[in-house]
Amino acid sequence: MDQFLQEINSWQRNVFVFDFDGTLLNSEPCHFLSHKKVIEELFPDKIFTKEDFKRFIGKRDVDIFEEISACGNIDKQKAMADKQKYSLTMLKKKDVKIFDYFFSITKAFPNAHYFIASNQDENTITEVLKSKKIYKFFDKVFSMPSLNLKKDQFLKKIKHFINFSPEQIVLFEDSSSTLSLGKHLGVKTVGIKNDVNTDQKFDCDLVIDCTQKEILGKINSIETMGLVDGPGIRFVSFLQGCHLRCKYCHNPETWAMDGQSEELSAAELVKKIERYKNYYGQDGGATFSGGEPLLQPQFLLECLRLCKQKAINTALDTAGVGFGDYDEILKYVDLVILDVKAVDEKEYFELTGQPIKYFKQFLQAVQKNGNKLWLRQVIVPGINDDKQHILKLKEFAEKLKNVEKVELLPYKTIGVHKYQDLKIPYRLKDVPEMDEERCKKLEELLK
Ligand code: SF4
Repeated sequence: MDQFLQEINSWQRNVFVFDFDGTLLNSEPCHFLSHKKVIEELFPDKIFTKEDFKRFIGKRDVDIFEEISACGNIDKQKAMADKQKYSLTMLKKKDVKIFDYFFSITKAFPNAHYFIASNQDENTITEVLKSKKIYKFFDKVFSMPSLNLKKDQFLKKIKHFINFSPEQIVLFEDSSSTLSLGKHLGVKTVGIKNDVNTDQKFDCDLVIDCTQKEILGKINSIETMGLVDGPGIRFVSFLQGCHLRCKYCHNPETWAMDGQSEELSAAELVKKIERYKNYYGQDGGATFSGGEPLLQPQFLLECLRLCKQKAINTALDTAGVGFGDYDEILKYVDLVILDVKAVDEKEYFELTGQPIKYFKQFLQAVQKNGNKLWLRQVIVPGINDDKQHILKLKEFAEKLKNVEKVELLPYKTIGVHKYQDLKIPYRLKDVPEMDEERCKKLEELLK
């Protein structure tokens, strides 16, 4: 369980109240822009700044527009409706980090009661929650101004909407004053840092920082219905970048980190993966391959974490030469498909141009974490297509835990033309493709 969930778990509470705007949708930037739009439409000579907006945070729209009407004669109802329309459109499009936390929380505490409090009107709240497919989690949605409430008013409101005592409640909130009030009343409080409150100091039990910028991943290509990179039907993402220079590599275009690739956030990639979820069945899921996926460890970790949150099976297809927190990454990997270039140190270097120690470090982490393991080796005529090599591989595999499968892949020449295009000399020019039947026979030696 993630650390923040463990902390919440230790509180032994079963009622979770989210302030809709600041926390669950991190929506203040949307409200700022929609207010700005309406106010600048009403008063074209005025410029509405973030500083102006800060005075509005936590207030109800009806009070805000009352204040605005002091600047001139306006149709308050229309202005309010326009503002809500703009906010709603933006909120529906918004994809924010707090949702990751929210889904982890609902998964970790499936029997808890969930409530939404907001100073937005209930229709807006309901419509946005439905568009984000999270409406079903909530026992009740209610509208409540979050600021300027005295202690007894706050208690009265909470009591009115949800019939639980403060000692049962965890409040997720981005307003420091409401957090202080909640804490004072015996409610456990989680402060959410969002785009507009980063400089605020929270007096609360736990802080979740949702301001971290998203890491973009470099994706060389994707395959939506892969059948060979792990069990079942799989969405395979080929990540850009590789530090090895395997003589037989048929994807040299994936080597350079700055090679041609598409930049996506983890949330964007996982959204694509999720679209095909119905095809994955019991065995299938997402495979992260490359290039070398471990060269983008933070992005990879985020993708894996999101996949697991969405109950998508994960496989990591790797040569084990990257960096990052392997233990953390492997926590979210159901299957490691490990490309064993060679087991002999000299041969490994000869084939890949890198020392074997990095591969061994990764393998050690896999063994420590107890991940399921498939081993693969490409068999190249004249390099490792003999009995002695295969028996060495067998011996190597037998010393490892959790090996489900060892596969031999026949060397193919399909990628040779790419070397010409990239003007890279091809080092196995005169080597023929590996005979598939002979490769299968060699595989029998592994049994
Ligand atoms: S590890 Fe894979 S991508 Fe990297 S050079 Fe070797 S075969 Fe190519």
